[in-house]
Amino acid sequence: MQQVYNFAAGPAVLPQPVLQQVKDEFLSYHNSGMSITEISHRSSLFQDIIDDAEKTLRDLMQIPDDYAVLFVQGGGSQQFTEVPLNLGTDNVAYIDTGNWSKKAIAEAQKFPSLKVTTLASSEATHNTTIPSVPPVSANYDYVHITTNNTIEGTTYFDLPDVGKNVLVGDMSSNILAQRYNVQDFGLIYAGAQKNIAPAGLTIVIVRRDLIGKKKGLPAMLDYGLQSAKGSLYNTPPVFNIYMAGLVFHWLEDCGGVDEMEKVNRAKAKILYDYLDQSKLFSAPVKPTFRSLTNVPFVTGNAAMDQKFITAATEAKLLNLKGHRLVGGMRASLYNAMPITGVTKLVHFMAEFEQGEK
Ligand SMILES: *Cc1c(COP(=O)(O)O)cnc(C)c1O
Repeated sequence: MQQVYNFAAGPAVLPQPVLQQVKDEFLSYHNSGMSITEISHRSSLFQDIIDDAEKTLRDLMQIPDDYAVLFVQGGGSQQFTEVPLNLGTDNVAYIDTGNWSKKAIAEAQKFPSLKVTTLASSEATHNTTIPSVPPVSANYDYVHITTNNTIEGTTYFDLPDVGKNVLVGDMSSNILAQRYNVQDFGLIYAGAQKNIAPAGLTIVIVRRDLIGKKKGLPAMLDYGLQSAKGSLYNTPPVFNIYMAGLVFHWLEDCGGVDEMEKVNRAKAKILYDYLDQSKLFSAPVKPTFRSLTNVPFVTGNAAMDQKFITAATEAKLLNLKGHRLVGGMRASLYNAMPITGVTKLVHFMAEFEQGEK
């Protein structure tokens, strides 16, 4: 098979050894004679899988016991509804750092009982920064941030000071890619398809005292119920949870989150260093806020961008087209993107730039 490098933002590249293992045991999981896609979610085979996935994730992220880990469906987008539904009583607050934050805010605004405050916004810098937040003295049910802005390419390296308020993080595109302290958050959620598993699984990590208090919530959207049932209220995404578990073990084999963060910093540095000295390409995001996982870049000329994307595709450097909201290019460098993918990309960009002189 010809080697390609897939820079897609999500669904995205998964670790080769994991894909190989899935292939090897696809027809008969652990000599059961059944495929992982055929076994019951009530079987002990699957109970072992979900227990092990949870335990491994807890180890990787150092998740304390007073947090529940939920494996649910509906994507990051459904969490835009579940967070205000479960945690909101009257006042909720958001920090707007781009498109995904805006979508989260828009869903919260659909609750007539909630007053939604935007504490700060990066709009004035076209989302190329993370805004500083004025001291938060008011009481909110939670303050919501997007830890990594997948489209705009900005990241929180330092969390905002939200006073006594509960911090909620949409970590969809940098969960397990850099170290965050779980205890700094009341709730973390992430769609799996950026850095963990195929699309169809969402991870929720939530402090237990925050859930199960509201009565009469729709069953599928109720964190308290999902937690009480061990994520098995209904049929969970069995295959995705299985793959997530394999990816968690792969990450352990790589040395865990801190080691992976070092590699991710090295990968991102190679690309940003090249972009900063290039006369053709540039990175719009201010250096202190630059994402490790999603790197937007532009030539400033749409036709040139397209020419580059076409040439890169021919060179097996795939899915570099930027999000339609920001244009240009975007290279997503999730955990499973090897460093050779980045060096190959930078080599190719340098050659392309030489050819355009
Ligand atoms: C992709 C993404 C989402 C939406 O995820 P879905 O699973 O497609 O709903 C939300 N937030 C962030 C930061 C994302 O990158």
